[in-house]
Amino acid sequence: MASTRRLRSWYRSPYGLLAAFLALTLGPSIGLVWLGWRLLDQDRALEKQRIDERRERAADQVVASLQRTLQASELDLAQRRAPTAGDDALMVEFRASELLAYPSGSLLFRPQASVPQDVLPNVYRQAESYEFQRRDYERAIRAFQPLARSPDPTVRAGALLRIARNQRKAGQLDSALRTYSALTAYDKTSAGGLPAGLVARWARCDLLAGLGRRQDLAKEAADLYGLLQRGHWRLSQAEYDVVAEEAAAWLGVNRDSETPALALAEAVTWLAAQAGRETLDSGRASSVRQNRLVTILWTRGPDGLRALVAGPQYGERKWLPDVERLADTLRVTVALSERTPGAAATSRSASVTGLPWPVLVANRDAKAELEEFAGRRRLLLAALGLLAVVVGAGTYSVARAYARELAVMRLQSEFVSAVSHEFRTPLTSLRQLSETLNEGRPLADERRAAYYQALDRSTNRLEKLVEGLLDFGRMESGAMVYRKQDLDVAALVTSVVDEYRREASDRGRQVTLKAGSDLPLIHADQETLGRAIWNLLDNAEKYSPGCPTIRVDVEREGVGIAIRVQDHGLGIPEAEQRDILRKFVRGTAADTTGIKGTGIGLAMVKHIVDAHGGSLRLESAPGEGSTFSIVLPAGG
Ligand code: ADP
Repeated sequence: MASTRRLRSWYRSPYGLLAAFLALTLGPSIGLVWLGWRLLDQDRALEKQRIDERRERAADQVVASLQRTLQASELDLAQRRAPTAGDDALMVEFRASELLAYPSGSLLFRPQASVPQDVLPNVYRQAESYEFQRRDYERAIRAFQPLARSPDPTVRAGALLRIARNQRKAGQLDSALRTYSALTAYDKTSAGGLPAGLVARWARCDLLAGLGRRQDLAKEAADLYGLLQRGHWRLSQAEYDVVAEEAAAWLGVNRDSETPALALAEAVTWLAAQAGRETLDSGRASSVRQNRLVTILWTRGPDGLRALVAGPQYGERKWLPDVERLADTLRVTVALSERTPGAAATSRSASVTGLPWPVLVANRDAKAELEEFAGRRRLLLAALGLLAVVVGAGTYSVARAYARELAVMRLQSEFVSAVSHEFRTPLTSLRQLSETLNEGRPLADERRAAYYQALDRSTNRLEKLVEGLLDFGRMESGAMVYRKQDLDVAALVTSVVDEYRREASDRGRQVTLKAGSDLPLIHADQETLGRAIWNLLDNAEKYSPGCPTIRVDVEREGVGIAIRVQDHGLGIPEAEQRDILRKFVRGTAADTTGIKGTGIGLAMVKHIVDAHGGSLRLESAPGEGSTFSIVLPAGG
């Protein structure tokens, strides 16, 4: 029961209410900021998700587009439309007996050399016995010569090769060179298991190199290297490599220019190996050969396996433009590679898409989009910040206004007790005097007169108090009526000071007055202005105990007239000088010295001065006294 009452009294107390107000405003604002923050987080997650989804959709479209282009190439393949010369691609057909490559000469080497092994070694046995056993090279040459006229070109080529060999051994190098020249005519005929044209040229180069005939060597080697690069002979990779290596060395060039064709030929070898292991119908694959991405599409035609083997340039020209156009419209970048860890990209593996390559799709402007989001976030943060500031400032000003109201309430209750106190003194003396007079005891005439004077003073004081309070009430409500007329200010101040002197002289106070002559008239309400001057005089006396002299000056100040009331009393600290003009506010001087008062005197003075279009000024320092100046505009 008691606790409920305490609770009730808690929220009814002004401070409890203030705390409740703060809790009610600050609580929801903190909640709002928190919610905003959460919202921001969710927004960011959503944004990321949106970007990811866009990329996923783009990846699907890219894959579909690649499928379409590859299908077009596969259709070309089915219709035997081969790439043209100069393309970084070739078409091969695995026939039962041979491997055909289109455009012709585009295949540098083959999975197996298709030149038949040397025929009829027995034909040469007799002649070779002269060469190897007897080392009679002349005889051997003579023995080979009839064979060089054989109707079988293979026998002829074999014989020429052997004649040249013997001529070399016999030191007849020029003859050997000529024989090799003759052998070149047999070009693709097998000579010792290799095409005769190749063997002849290779041997001529070797001889020319040995003879130091550089120019001839350069011509011959260029010829050999050119034929090799044009895929002139059907060589195995090992054969091709050995000859090409030597030819390039004789020419003094590096073999970089071969790289694209080498990559294609290696890919063909790989496909042949696959076809050797299993029956291939149709398919797609890619692999990196010679540091180049080679794509292979194959299909089974009526005559066997057919394949398109394409290097990167072909892909870029044929397959990528469509995808790149699409990528542009979808604002993504496309790479035919595996995902690099950490990068925000969508990867589609070859095994899933059925494409020859993995596809990697990344948002082109993901950063810009996130930046856009960051901009939005900054805006929201700014709005939240502004909200926090507004709520903070609002709460602060309400709390301040409330605290002020509380202070006024406190001042008001102090005012009531101060007023009661003010009333009590004259009332007490009135009661005592009237009791004494009522007793009917005989009193000396002077005594009786003194009593009546005291009665009169107390009644006057009460009257002044009541009038003052009533006037203050009117001023506060704006109902005060000022009867203004043209006045001689010096005369007005003199009459107030004179009246004050009469009262104050009993208390040992002196008031000096110095009024300038020739002052202009002022337009003012005599009674209220007189009260304002009286209040200042009253304060000057109250707050300067032990300093009996008060000085009053009336003088011109600019275009107006200043009435100054100066004392040498307690003075007023700077910090209080503004506040004491507010109603009910009493200064520390009043508090510490216990000087009685209600705190409305200066508020009234301010009201009156304002009503006259003037200003109230104060110069004061603690311990040095104060000067209050009423400055009024002159004008009759
Ligand atoms: P009251 O005198 O009834 O307290 P006022 O409104 O007349 O109320 O004055 C307000 C306060 O200003 C006083 O309480 C006092 O602290 C300060 N004050 C006014 N006049 C003087 C003065 N002449 N010297 C020092 N303090 C003064």
